[in-house]
Amino acid sequence: MKLQKKQLVYSIVVAFAFFTVYLIIYAFYHRENDGLVYLIFNSYALIAVVLSFVVVLRRSVREQRKKVTDHKRLTYFAKNLTAPALLWNDNFSEIVLNDALAELAEITAPADADAKPIICGFFNKEDMTDADIREIVLARNKEYPFRSPSGVLHEMIWNTCAVETDEEGVTWLLSIGMDLADIRMLQSEIESYSKKLTVSEGRHNLTMELMDVGLLLIEQGNPRLFPSEKLQAMLGFRGASFSVEELRKRVYPLDLVAFDSHVQTLRHQMRSFLNQTRTMELRLSAADGEYRWYSYRFKVTQNAETGRLVAGGSVIDITQEKAKDAKIEQIAYEDAVTEIPNRNKLLFVGQELFQITKDLDISYWVIVTDIDRFHLINDTCGYAAGNALLKSFAEVVIGQMEQGGFAARISGDNFALILRDTGDKNLPERVVKRIQSDLATKAVGELENRSLTCSAGFAKMPEDGESFENVMEHAEFALSSASDTLGSIRRYTSEMHDTIIFESNLEKQLSEAVSRKDLILYYQPKVSLKTGEIIGLEALVRWKHPSGKILSPDMFIPIAEKSQLITQITRFVLREACRQASLWQKAGLKPIIMSINFSSTDFYLENLSGQIQNMLNRFRLEPNYLEIELTESMALKDIDATIEQMQELREAGIRIAMDDFGTGYSSLSYIQRLPFTMLKLDRAFVMHMEDDPVVQEIIRSVARIAKAKKIETIAEGVETPEQAEHLRAAGCDFAQGFLYGHPMTAAETEKYIRADMAKKYTS
Ligand code: C2E
Ligand code: MG
Ligand code: MG
Repeated sequence: MKLQKKQLVYSIVVAFAFFTVYLIIYAFYHRENDGLVYLIFNSYALIAVVLSFVVVLRRSVREQRKKVTDHKRLTYFAKNLTAPALLWNDNFSEIVLNDALAELAEITAPADADAKPIICGFFNKEDMTDADIREIVLARNKEYPFRSPSGVLHEMIWNTCAVETDEEGVTWLLSIGMDLADIRMLQSEIESYSKKLTVSEGRHNLTMELMDVGLLLIEQGNPRLFPSEKLQAMLGFRGASFSVEELRKRVYPLDLVAFDSHVQTLRHQMRSFLNQTRTMELRLSAADGEYRWYSYRFKVTQNAETGRLVAGGSVIDITQEKAKDAKIEQIAYEDAVTEIPNRNKLLFVGQELFQITKDLDISYWVIVTDIDRFHLINDTCGYAAGNALLKSFAEVVIGQMEQGGFAARISGDNFALILRDTGDKNLPERVVKRIQSDLATKAVGELENRSLTCSAGFAKMPEDGESFENVMEHAEFALSSASDTLGSIRRYTSEMHDTIIFESNLEKQLSEAVSRKDLILYYQPKVSLKTGEIIGLEALVRWKHPSGKILSPDMFIPIAEKSQLITQITRFVLREACRQASLWQKAGLKPIIMSINFSSTDFYLENLSGQIQNMLNRFRLEPNYLEIELTESMALKDIDATIEQMQELREAGIRIAMDDFGTGYSSLSYIQRLPFTMLKLDRAFVMHMEDDPVVQEIIRSVARIAKAKKIETIAEGVETPEQAEHLRAAGCDFAQGFLYGHPMTAAETEKYIRADMAKKYTS
């Protein structure tokens, strides 16, 4: 650091002044020549001179230092500006370029000696005069073309101001530039964005957009988000920042899954979006508390100083536009009855989330749920009541979305939910239980006194499948695996997967078994509770599996029902049962009633009565020796069609039994509309009869009402003599169960009937 001339002169003048005063005083006192006094006085004067010189010198050094520090600060400031900046002085002795300008001008660390041509180049001057500098300082929007060494033309606007003048009169100037190319690019981007909005999407015009633009800045690693004042006003937030959690509370429940995935993606993958522009669309509760659609269009950049990634961009209200799109969206993605998302939307969201789970190592639960025995509600209370129940169910399901998630109606009474896995493995079960208890409260109006329950199956994604559809299939499979149990909640397991494979193999084998005649009939006796005599047989199908096992119908009838193989099975059972019954009659066995079981697909076949009569004619069997067993739920599927079909069968003289009575919803008065001849009380009644007086009372009144309508009653699953006695006392006519005989082969059955006949003659 060199001492400036001005300060040196100032110091010398002050010192000289002191010295002059000293000389005058010295001359005055010299006359008396007092040596000691003179010596002290001289020393004192010398010290004073030296001291004053030091003080002045120090002050000047401090001032100089401050100036140097200020200058350093200025240089630092200029260097760290993100816009292109230039610090220069009017005698062109020094120049400082920041990185942005150095990059743009393709100059690295210019020497001060070259300052003038560089400065002149930036301001497009041959040789710069004081008048030019004045013009530069005053210019606000003047464009200065500048060509970089590689020939790129930059049209710059410079904002220049004098920042410091030193004691030598040298003025320092700071010029901050803007490259018009950048501005034009930004402008064209806004224009094209606005055009896209106004033309293709018709969102809103540019003016509106500019008026309603909020800005949001998200910094990597920073849990707080930084909104502009406009955005704060739009959303009704106060404060310069808000947390992700605060924002999450404003998100529309059905958009929470999308919100969470956006947050996760930004948190973990921001770097992969560097310099990309992306858009998020979400519903948020606005300042007035209403949910509105917002579009956040942001670009990820890297902060040059901190090195941190920053996502910054505009937030605009697109509610009006969404309202226009809503109709199209509604048709494509909304279920008409419940007004919640449909299967298509679920697949769309699910597929996206499946990808996210893979990328971000997170997981979701996929739950599929349906209302137990919903078809009965539809059949017995009408479609209007059915639809009302679906709407209520949709509300119940959506009600679970407050913590985040996605829900849709996927078909009939099937609804699906996607929930973020929080590490709590009991979450799906808890959510379903809440749905079940909320659903129970919807049994009002026409549904009063109905016990409304629902069942669910669930699977985890991505671990339970190779795609979202696959995970869904597995959740649906878990649901169907418990279809007979009301209110069941099952998680998909890999054993279930084995079952799927097993079932699909079984289906193939079953179709072969039907054509290879590997199916056989067993017969179970039905006896009179009054006389103990056999009055009929129920034909129960069995499958002689290639493995040597005899498979029970529960193992293959449900599979056959799904695949239409059931029609062939029923045809076989009908033919074989008629053939056997007529064979036994011809062999002199006492004529008894042969019952066969029908599935719903069989029952609604065209000309069923004609087909059965053909079979009876073929084996010369009287129609009143044939009984068809229908289950209650089957009969109520389409009540009018059922009545018509049953009447045709009745007119042909064929008997009809209501199987498994009491397991469904239907009231006896409703059942009475159906022209059946026998009512089969379900095994559950028999099981609970002994310890439950209410059940006894029900059996009694059912038997009484049935008798009045000339309908006979039989109880299934009778295993003990006590049960038989109770049933007889309650007025039940017949019984079937292990007490009288298990299902048997034809040969065993023949022996049984012969023994029964012999008993009658010997007793
Ligand atoms: P279901 O029609 O209710 O038949 C009665 C079932 O209860 C039979 O089982 C029978 O073995 C069983 N059972 C009878 N007495 C007792 C008892 O005292 N205790 C107990 N625990 N069980 C008893 P199975 O033969 O396994 O048949 C099961 C179901 O499969 C039948 O129920 C019926 O719905 C269906 N099924 C059987 N054969 C056919 C058929 O040919 N076609 C159709 N569509 N379904 C059939
Ligand atoms: Mg049956
Ligand atoms: Mg039954």
